[in-house]
Amino acid sequence: MAEKIPLSEPWFEGNEWQYVKDCLDRRWVSSAGAYVAEFEQTVAKYTGATFAVAVQSGTAALHLALLISDVQAGDLVLLPNVSFVASANAVTYAGASPVLFDVHQDHWQMDEDLVASFLHTECQLVDGNCLHTPSGRRVKAIMPVHALGLLAPSFALQRLAEEYQLIMIEDAAEALGSWLKDKHAGTIGSLGCLSFNGNKILTTGGGGMILTHSSELAAKAKHLSTQAKSHPRLYLHDELGYNYRLSNIQAALGVAQMEQLQDILSLKEKIELRYREELVQAEWPLSFARIHPESHPNYWLPSFCSSTVDQIRMALTEANIQTRPLWSPLNRLPMYNHCRYITTEDHSGRIVDHSLSLPAFPALTDAQQSRIIKIIQQQLTR
Ligand SMILES: *Cc1c(COP(=O)(O)O)cnc(C)c1O
Repeated sequence: MAEKIPLSEPWFEGNEWQYVKDCLDRRWVSSAGAYVAEFEQTVAKYTGATFAVAVQSGTAALHLALLISDVQAGDLVLLPNVSFVASANAVTYAGASPVLFDVHQDHWQMDEDLVASFLHTECQLVDGNCLHTPSGRRVKAIMPVHALGLLAPSFALQRLAEEYQLIMIEDAAEALGSWLKDKHAGTIGSLGCLSFNGNKILTTGGGGMILTHSSELAAKAKHLSTQAKSHPRLYLHDELGYNYRLSNIQAALGVAQMEQLQDILSLKEKIELRYREELVQAEWPLSFARIHPESHPNYWLPSFCSSTVDQIRMALTEANIQTRPLWSPLNRLPMYNHCRYITTEDHSGRIVDHSLSLPAFPALTDAQQSRIIKIIQQQLTR
């Protein structure tokens, strides 16, 4: 059997052991340790967010972001149809319902034209609220996802959000290190959410962060993440809170990982650009999502779409190379198949059904990548 190449593998080449050991040596492993504040400050400084609040997961970050945006039961939240289920689940936890939008056939991100036409034709502003006229429900927020670390059309969506008084929460779970013009993903709307799950650009084992420029929103997020404790000593709590804090051990990993972010990003960029260069040819039925010309993505997970995807996947599996398709479109999942899905040609379905993500972890060697590329090229030229 050929050597196994996994889809992803974390990169721990820096001070991870040292900082985690430091937590154990000091007997300070749980939340509120010094590494939590340091991790938050480091991420805030890097992304240009004024505030960063560390939490247990990207999903928890999204849940809190919705709650502090005053998303309430019965509200509608606008989401792209191609995302990890966590984006939609967070909306459901808040008691709201997603309205799903198809993605653009070229860049695979939420289609801003569909969002604009939905808002222009079906919604109106009434006393500062955006009302969806046919259902009488309030549209409170829009949650674009920077899928694959590539950039959603966030400036256009933020303009629409302002026009219709919506709060824009960017799901930047996959997008640490991704920039649109001079803005980091997650800092264009009112709130942005990062994830540090094991397969993300950097990892704390599990974790997430809320980015914002608003001191008020940051304070609310911190409050809700710590069981809404309202007194420094007494166990007094002034509203329903959550235990969503990141632990000191996790944050210690995060601080060590942030020190290597530039290395990780340049390794990943080199890997994805090589895939794109050697696999995209006019006569081959294979394409990658278009990269926004004014963006610098983090190249989180190289993923292509091909009419011969089944043969390619089988050939790679036989060679012991791990791959996987993109997430099932949300409108096909039983929890969300009753949601409104706004589309003209269902690009989501076509893209996902023909998609495959390739290994691109920082330690992938040139020889391993050559093996992967050769197998795919053989399938394309058969
Ligand atoms: C990973 C991910 C999340 C959830 O993050 P967790 O840390 O796993 O909870 C949310 N949205 C997207 C797009 C993701 O890729």
